[in-house]
Amino acid sequence: MSSSVITRFAPSPTGFLHIGGGRTALFNWAYARNRGGKMLLRIEDTDRERSTPEAVDAILDGLTWLGLDWDGEVVSQFARASRHREVAEILLAKGLAYRCYCTPEELLAMREKAEAEKRPLRYDGTWRDRDPATAPAGIKPAIRFKAPQQGETVIEDHVQSRVVIQNKELDDLIILRSDGNPTYNLSVVVDDHDMGVTHIIRGSDHLTNAARQTQIYKAMGWHVPEMAHIPLIHGADGAKLSKRHGALGVEAYRAMGYLPEAMRNYLARLGWSHGDDEIFSTEQMISWFDLDGIGKSPSRFDFVKLENLNGHYMRQTPDADLLAAFLAFLPHAAGGPEMLARIDSDMRAKLLRAMPGLKERAKTLLELMKSAQFLFAERPIALDDKAKQIMADGGVAALRGLLPILEAADWNVHSLEAAVKAHAEATGTKLGKLAQPLRATMTGTNTSPGIFDVLDVLGREESLNRIADALK
Ligand code: GLU
Repeated sequence: MSSSVITRFAPSPTGFLHIGGGRTALFNWAYARNRGGKMLLRIEDTDRERSTPEAVDAILDGLTWLGLDWDGEVVSQFARASRHREVAEILLAKGLAYRCYCTPEELLAMREKAEAEKRPLRYDGTWRDRDPATAPAGIKPAIRFKAPQQGETVIEDHVQSRVVIQNKELDDLIILRSDGNPTYNLSVVVDDHDMGVTHIIRGSDHLTNAARQTQIYKAMGWHVPEMAHIPLIHGADGAKLSKRHGALGVEAYRAMGYLPEAMRNYLARLGWSHGDDEIFSTEQMISWFDLDGIGKSPSRFDFVKLENLNGHYMRQTPDADLLAAFLAFLPHAAGGPEMLARIDSDMRAKLLRAMPGLKERAKTLLELMKSAQFLFAERPIALDDKAKQIMADGGVAALRGLLPILEAADWNVHSLEAAVKAHAEATGTKLGKLAQPLRATMTGTNTSPGIFDVLDVLGREESLNRIADALK
């Protein structure tokens, strides 16, 4: 009997892995890794109409991109339905569940009555104590859990503290539908028990389920796992998270050019804290992670903060690693595959040389992709409006004066910079008045990495040709 921690991530594969799911997975992962335990992965695919293989793949892919690995085989909840049925039968045999023969009409009447009285629907217990011998013919019964009617169910939650739910609030829920399909709360309990889960870490929207599940554990005489219900993520304005706020699939964050390590750091801080630490490595997070650090109030998703954090990670990533991340990112970005197709070993070398300048200015790989465009532009390169304006405002004349200076210079960052500065001084021109037309000519825009880096990376021939084009 091992006492080691076992957590699980249990997504329903009805869409992509959304950002809240990514955070839940991260917390389960970090806690398990902190304790030297395991994180299991269970796909809750019992809703056959909404669960698709594509969604399962998207979840596995999203977790893998985030760098969250799981232990053992992926468990399919649907595949375990016969075990769930078996437990329903055990509860029946123990007298802790019963067959309900209510007709759809009777259930509808119950619903309408509840609606008319403006109260939540509760099963009225018709078959709770009724003799099954009086069952009507031709009705396939559902199995209902005989929920305790008096007293209270207590959840000692690691985040929400002591949550007390009056048993009279919880009705006899169906655990096995009349078509023989188990329902969610039964399946979750049976799976978590059989998988040896010691800690359930999930969204606080599952608190009511937690009470129902606790009752089922107790009815089976099973140990109730520790629970931690994390507050949901809100938008920057405090409202429920919507698409506009960032309630997107993790693949959308990949396509926007965020680095997985920055995402891990950011998601960890969405609801968990370690003192005042804002930036920490994944290793630090693992060594610090504890359920006590999870806050009680909802966290707010803040794109600006995420961007800044990502920029920080990009700047501190070694150039070769960032280039590798960039190449891995391109297939997921709009226009990225086309750029990737043009990256040969020569272009790779150029990108690597340009990387220090590129990463200084980009907060995401998408921004980096945009500012690397100048390397790919084909002559004569198109100028945007701002670049055209610079050329019209004396840029052409400035370049004309500069051309012989550049032609005579050694082609490296230092010599180019020294030559252009000397020319600026000699002619009484502000450096910007030379640098801006050069930038417009080299990149077609008015923003770029340092202009001497740009000239250096493009090389003498290409740079001088771009100037010649501009002077035509
Ligand atoms: N499948 C549930 C969901 O996606 C999670 C269930 C659980 O964590 O217990 O919300």
